Amino acid sequence: MKPYIVKRSKIDNLGLYATKNIRKGTRIIEYKGKVITVKETEKNPKYDNGKAIYLFNLNKRYDLDGDFKFNTARLINHSCDPNCEVYGTGLKIWVHAIKDISKGEEFSYDYGFNFDEDYKNYPCRCKSKNCCGFIVREGSRWRLKKKKKQK
Ligand SMILES: [Zn+2]
Repeated sequence: MKPYIVKRSKIDNLGLYATKNIRKGTRIIEYKGKVITVKETEKNPKYDNGKAIYLFNLNKRYDLDGDFKFNTARLINHSCDPNCEVYGTGLKIWVHAIKDISKGEEFSYDYGFNFDEDYKNYPCRCKSKNCCGFIVREGSRWRLKKKKKQK
């Protein structure tokens, strides 16, 4: 049995849900895509906004573009309190559990978006206690708090 199932999500459109209890550290699903060179990424306007949701850097030379229908893992939503992280070895990456996950829970990871002037175009509906309201990577959320205070 696959450890995941695609279902309508409370966060956004579709999501992936656990079909069984999963231990922290477990590989859940391969994040599949096309391996492209970092040079190609730099040249292609498709990736030119720092918000390339489906783009992962593999190493100095290669990126992985997961923006394909066959990549089921692309349906995983962002959360401000995620239970997964995407990493791998060589040219393969996997979605790993970073917490114990119970059957029926939705998988999520931090999309890692930079904080910049168009953050408002990416609202977050993860509903976690620490949700900052927008899809911004953990390390940059303090900027958002600062902005709120200024208003
Ligand atoms: Zn959130």
